[in-house]
Amino acid sequence: MKSKENTDVLVIGFSPAGLMAARNIARKGLKVILIDKKDEPGNPSHPSNTFFKAMMDVAGEEIDDSYIIHRLKGAKIFAPSGKYVVVESPGYFIDRSKFDILYAQRIKDEGVDIRMSVEAYNVIRSNGRFTVSTSIGPITSKLVIVSDGINSKLASLLGLNPVKYPDDIAWAMEAEVTANNIGENDYFEYHVGSIAPGWKSTYSPCGGDKATLGVYVRRNGDDVSSFFENWITKFKKEKGLDSMTIGEKKVGGDPIATIPSQIVSDGVLVTGGSAGQSGIGYGMRAGQICGDVAAESILRNDTSTGFLSKYKKMWNDEFRYEYYLGRVALETLRKMSDKEIDNLMETFIDEDISSIAGTPVQKGIKMARIMLKNNPRSMLSMLAILRNK
Ligand SMILES: Cc1cc2nc3c(=O)[nH]c(=O)nc-3n(C[C@H](O)[C@H](O)[C@H](O)COP(=O)(O)OP(=O)(O)OC[C@H]3O[C@@H](n4cnc5c(N)ncnc54)[C@H](O)[C@@H]3O)c2cc1C
Repeated sequence: MKSKENTDVLVIGFSPAGLMAARNIARKGLKVILIDKKDEPGNPSHPSNTFFKAMMDVAGEEIDDSYIIHRLKGAKIFAPSGKYVVVESPGYFIDRSKFDILYAQRIKDEGVDIRMSVEAYNVIRSNGRFTVSTSIGPITSKLVIVSDGINSKLASLLGLNPVKYPDDIAWAMEAEVTANNIGENDYFEYHVGSIAPGWKSTYSPCGGDKATLGVYVRRNGDDVSSFFENWITKFKKEKGLDSMTIGEKKVGGDPIATIPSQIVSDGVLVTGGSAGQSGIGYGMRAGQICGDVAAESILRNDTSTGFLSKYKKMWNDEFRYEYYLGRVALETLRKMSDKEIDNLMETFIDEDISSIAGTPVQKGIKMARIMLKNNPRSMLSMLAILRNK
């Protein structure tokens, strides 16, 4: 017989945002169930397995040795010409399954009731409560948090358009590759330009003979396999590799700088990739804010859109400028020719861009200063944003 469950909050999706939202609600002594259709924590559908310390700092989460596979000193950003700048910033290649399992145990210890192999089908609102039909039967709750990832079906079922610029999703293809010593490098490499329009192609070393190669492409459709093949060819040539084994290709959408839109309605909050809040660290922070507001709304007995909008306001206060500037930067990059990117890169070659810190606006001003000092004409390349492309 199908079970009937009752909870204060139901979180749908064991995403970085969903697990933080659930944790922060449980910390307030409320009953929270977190469901996911996957059989167990870990094993993400796409390999989201790298981050920088600075990104986890955003969420206030300590790096834990247990999930680190390879430590890196930072990233090299390559122009099409092959010239590059170095950003010194500690980064990690992680075992994403170990990461997820560690967090599953942690949030369980804080009181979250995790149910794997449970799929949510629909959400019905009636008399101020929700009934979510799931593969184990209906679950009723006062509030629902949707964190079901980039292709969120539940947000659409609830009539929400949680992402402002869905056409900006960076469609990605990534694969683990094996070659002699390919993993023995201290820096991630990001290559920009026509090799991956609008975002980047990546080389992420993970020690020994293993690395991952990927492409993240914006506004060129969701089949990015031809960009991936070009990247493999270029990479092998540049690294002088005669043979390299390519593992299973994984695909997915990265909602980088797609900007949250309708992320609250009566009794509903949307968080993480489904809300255009991309990345592990940034997703976790968004989930924390979401969980705090959700808990407060239950404790005050006010789950109205008006009260829950506090979540959007708090997120806006922390991240709006960074996301909007990020979007402008990616759009400018997408519209620039390879030659323009090469010229722009020259401007930064001998500069220590790792020291460009501060708020997004401060970072923008510091970069503009470098451009004005080294090559005032390079400012003109920013006009690419105005191109109709
Ligand atoms: C190829 C690729 C590589 C990436 N690499 C990185 C990286 O290295 N570092 C980084 O920070 N970011 C990376 N990203 C960005 C990534 O999208 C985010 O970091 C993050 O993992 C995505 O979280 P999310 O909120 O979208 O949810 P997800 O992690 O996708 O989780 C959503 C969960 O919801 C569950 N679910 C969905 N529907 C239902 C349902 N109806 N019922 C129950 N459960 C459901 C799914 O099973 C899933 O577990 C990458 C993206 C792509 C596409």
